[in-house]
Order: sequence, then structure tokens, then C-alpha cells
Amino acid sequence: MPREIRRFQKVLVANRGEIAIRVFRACAELKIRTVAIYSEQDIASLHRYKADEGYLVGEGKAPIEAYLDIEGIIDIAKRHGVDAVHPGYGFLAENAAFARRLAEEGIAFIGPRPEHLEMFGDKVEARRRAAAAGLPVVPGTEAPVAEREAVEAFAREHGFPIIIKAAAGGGGRGMRVVRSAAELKDAFERARSEAQAAFGDGRVYVEKLIERPRHIEVQILGDRYGNIVHLFERDCSIQRRHQKIIEVAPARGLSPELRARIADDAVRLMRSVGYENAGTVEFLVDAEGRHYFIEVNPRIQVEHTITELVTDIDIVQAQIRLAEGYALTDPEVGIPPQEEIRPRGYAIQCRITTEDPENNFLPDTGRILAYRSPGGFGVRLDGGNGYTGAVITPYYDSLLVKASTYAPTFDLAADKMLRVLREFRIRGVKTNIPFLENVIADREFREGTVDTHYIERRPDLLN
Ligand code: ADP
Repeated sequence: MPREIRRFQKVLVANRGEIAIRVFRACAELKIRTVAIYSEQDIASLHRYKADEGYLVGEGKAPIEAYLDIEGIIDIAKRHGVDAVHPGYGFLAENAAFARRLAEEGIAFIGPRPEHLEMFGDKVEARRRAAAAGLPVVPGTEAPVAEREAVEAFAREHGFPIIIKAAAGGGGRGMRVVRSAAELKDAFERARSEAQAAFGDGRVYVEKLIERPRHIEVQILGDRYGNIVHLFERDCSIQRRHQKIIEVAPARGLSPELRARIADDAVRLMRSVGYENAGTVEFLVDAEGRHYFIEVNPRIQVEHTITELVTDIDIVQAQIRLAEGYALTDPEVGIPPQEEIRPRGYAIQCRITTEDPENNFLPDTGRILAYRSPGGFGVRLDGGNGYTGAVITPYYDSLLVKASTYAPTFDLAADKMLRVLREFRIRGVKTNIPFLENVIADREFREGTVDTHYIERRPDLLN
């Protein structure tokens, strides 16, 4: 295919907080002008000031709705000469209608094509594609289930425990573990109404519950000429309520064969669908070392930073160049050939969030009275809303800053993280830093192969 390169002059980020700032930084280094959008509630938010230009979006709308205001965003983009939009994660990042509307206006979407957003936004369809490409998938229903009887039939065939999941799910929401027939009726109804409320789509499907799995995911990049590379894996098993809290790259304790199989499977799936731009293929690995596909996230992920640290590849800049039309082999994209990509050392990321241990770990809000950051060799901070005087509102996610450390060994990266966590001084809002310190110092965590139930099993870590 002949190359048609369209260099971007001005990029708008349809997002807020740390990921908006992350993208602005990538653009600034590429000499691309940046445009922020902000809601009325975000009038004083940091991301607004980190761009060359900033515009109010969604006037009169609710806080979340402002960032979902497709026509409002497109209007700003057109009025200010924007030629590409980066959607970050969350909000409109996986919204195919948004990507299509941008295309209609001649504005590039820095992400996959709309059909891939649709394909992987529907987890049942994603499972079908994975199975068709020869990947092992968790035993589950082939289609969404509308009747409780279908769930019962699945449980009779495969046995309990099972997990009911929202077809349109994400962010760890809309999932219910069912351990017995007695629990099933209630769980099915709840899963459906939760899915409807959270995603506007009440369709659910059923999978066999994998007991004590590790969550291993592979970072993928693709160009529009059919080339795919992987940047190895991340271990995201440290979770609470199915949400990731601490991530590690590369994963520890995988045999070279298993590691290669997981990466090969991820590449094969993405190649089979002609995937473009950045994406992540997620797997569960059981205690016997079998891996199972669970889903694809067709966007940049929160935890991309640790892959960048161990591979020396700027994933966001690669996303921009790929969206401009470059091929993976072009030097502009900054990706070496697959056989030269090797993770070096270890990187760990902690998601530092505001939360109140005295209030069931719900997000804490208020004015930050003091904010002092750590720094130093091997430390990366991706900050969003934290600075002295900032007001943390209850409207958006509670992520304050991502702390990533990098060192030649896992233990050194963990020791560095402990030092980083202890160096933070944040007053005025409560954070999960004490909890993160407990985990990073914990012997089980240091052994490096904990499963997704680790935090649940260890309430002592919360004190
Ligand atoms: P989401 O898109 O909401 O993040 P995922 O399908 O990626 O949902 O699953 C998130 C987490 O939920 C996984 O990392 C794992 O901890 C748990 N999970 C999902 N499916 C299963 C399963 N079949 N068995 C065991 N745990 C699961």
C-alpha cells in the first residue's frame, strides 16, 4: 500500500487529568500544538494549563457528560484547526460513533479504526474472534444470555463457580461471581441491572471462574499496512474489586515457553483482525500455567508507563506517528524490529488515589493543603490533579498520580517504590499510600507471582 503521511499540526485531547497531560507532553516533544478541553467543574484543573490552548466544553452539562459531548468537542476541534484527536482512556476512547464523526469531519482519531472499537467493545464478539484465531478462551457462553435457564444450563455443564459479566463491561464493573445454584437467581438479575445502569446495555454472558488466576496482558502496536509488534507483557494481578492497583513489567515467574505463547497469541489475534494503533490483549493464567484470553482493550491503558520504562519505547508518540500513516518500520515511529525489542530490568507502577480508610475506602475529596512529590533516578510520575491548593472534586475518577519506578531487578524497583511512596507528602485529602506501602513491603508481593485474590485474602494490608 502506498504511504500517505499526514503530519499533525494540532492535537486535541478529549480527556482530562494525567492522561491528557501525558499526551500533551508527547505532542510537545514532537512539536505538535496541543488543545485541552475542560468541563465547568475542571475550570481550575491542571490539564487545562498544560496545553497550548484550552476550551470549555459541555456548558451546562453534568461533569462526566461534558467529556462525552461529541458534537461539542467536534465543534471546538473545527473552530480551532485541530487535525487529530487523542481520546486517552475512558470517556470516548472506545466510542465508535465518535471516531466515525471525526472521520466525517476529516479529523484523525489517534486509535484503532471504528470497527475494531466495536468488535472489542463487545466482549462476546471479542471472545469469538479470539477463538477463531486459535487462542484459548475461558470456557463460556457463545452468545449473551437473556434467560436465567441458560446460565443454569451452563453451570450444569461446566460446574460452579462461574462469573457473570457484562457484554459491554469495563473497569471491573458489572461482574458477579456465583458459587452455587442458590446464589444464581439473585446474581443474574443484579448483573443484568448493573450492566444496564453502568453501560446502557443489559446483555450479560457467562464464563467459568478461573480460580486464583494471574492477570497477564500484552501490549500491541499495529500499523495500517498489516504489521503488528508486541512490547511484551505486564502483570496486573494486584487488584481490588477487579480493578488494577499495582502493575509490573515484565511478569515474573513465567516459563520462557508460556511467555512466548502468550505474546504469540496476542500478535496472532491482532494480526487476524488487521488491528491498527495501540491495544492490549488480556489473559488469565491459572495455577497450572494455562493461559486464557479474556478481552482486548483497544486504547492506551493506564499502565502503559511500565512498558515504556522497560522497552524504551514512547507508546503515545508511536500512536501519533501510526495515526499519521507511518509504518511500524519507519524510523519516525521509534519501534525497533520485533527481534530487537527486549524488556530490560523491571518497572512497577502504583496508582495513587484519594481514598478514605475510615469511609469504606471511598474516594476522598477536598482541598490539598500540601503536596510534595518524590523524584530521583529511575522514578517517573504521571500527575493529574495533585498540587498544593488543588481541589479534588467527587465528579471524576480518584486517580491522583501514577508513580512508576524502574531498576535492573524487581527487588530494587520495589525498594525504590517504597522510598518513593514514603517521600510523598500529601495533606488535606487521604490517599491509599499507606496501603500501597504495605503491599510493596509485603513478602508475598516480593515473591512476585501473587494472583488476583491476593488483596482480598490479606485484609491486614489495608491497615
Ligand atoms: P474489565 O474490562 O471490566 O476490566 P475483564 O474481563 O478485563 O473486565 O476482567 C477484569 C478482572 O476480573 C480480571 O483481571 C480478573 O481479575 C477478573 N476476571 C474476569 N474474568 C474472570 C474469570 N473468568 N475468572 C476469574 N477472574 C476473572
